[in-house]
Amino acid sequence: MSRNFLSALTGSFAMPAAENPTVAMVEAAYRHHGLDWRYINCEVSPENLAGAVAGARAMGWAGFNCSLPHKVAVIKHLDGLGDSAKVIGAVNCAVRRNGAYIGENTDGKGFLQSLSAVIDPKGQSAVMFGAGGAARACAVEMALAGLTSITIVNRDPVRGQTLVDLINSATTTKAQLQVWHATYSIPSDVGIVVNATSIGLYPDLDAMLDLDVESLRPGLVVADIIPNPPRTRLVRLAESRGCRVIDGLGMLVNQGVIGIKYWTGVDVDAAVMRKTVEDIFGV
Ligand code: NDP
Repeated sequence: MSRNFLSALTGSFAMPAAENPTVAMVEAAYRHHGLDWRYINCEVSPENLAGAVAGARAMGWAGFNCSLPHKVAVIKHLDGLGDSAKVIGAVNCAVRRNGAYIGENTDGKGFLQSLSAVIDPKGQSAVMFGAGGAARACAVEMALAGLTSITIVNRDPVRGQTLVDLINSATTTKAQLQVWHATYSIPSDVGIVVNATSIGLYPDLDAMLDLDVESLRPGLVVADIIPNPPRTRLVRLAESRGCRVIDGLGMLVNQGVIGIKYWTGVDVDAAVMRKTVEDIFGV
């Protein structure tokens, strides 16, 4: 009987890499679906990124994730970009298509999938705290999904204005900047609030956005993209005020589901992946 000992390969290039739980989540899905695939978590420094991508090509990897600090730098080593990755200007997932590595951005798509399970962003107004890489991905995907308007609330005016200009020039959504120097109150016409800052990320568990808690009204959709802990102070507060909350684990899991679909063509069970990260984060 002939047997095949050659597994299909995927993985991740990042620095640091040790605390990223994606490998456990992705391999749990591979096992659950009986896929003979591997995901190799690699610590790759900026000066070794070109070599790592060349190595993946040489070894025939089906694709790889890229995390900090490589999301922009990796683009010059790839053969093309997907539509939203082109607008976002950052790649977190490379996919081999007809022998070419195409850069996609699954961060924003994963977020959009979580959000869409609760509310259709089409025709809504949103407030987004933060203007970094993750904010950019989430804001662009919401805009491409038909959001009417978005207010970017950010401390650094230059970073905030850069994201506002990007949305106004590349999408039909109307974006505006609110520089964040005082307590921010959510306007009553806003339907979606997103925390895309790192405020509340482990180990800073008590950190809270400078926002007027009274403006978190019942029914408002409040999404926090912090994956660890999933129940941030914002999530708990918003829940206690009757908001519909979305935690950051959904985005983490969904971007994994989307990446695996790109690489293997298989729709994997998100619940298996969520259970794995919940166990890791002790939820
Ligand atoms: P960046 O460093 O690119 O951006 C950080 C943002 O947070 C900036 O807008 C920064 O504002 C703001 N910020 C940080 N600290 C404060 C503070 N004390 N007060 C006000 N604003 C603050 O980070 P990323 O965009 O890459 O990541 C942001 C978060 O998103 C991280 O916590 C990460 O864990 C999470 N994330 C979650 C994912 C998921 O799957 N759930 C995927 C990717 C990221 P300023 O510009 O003024 O400095």
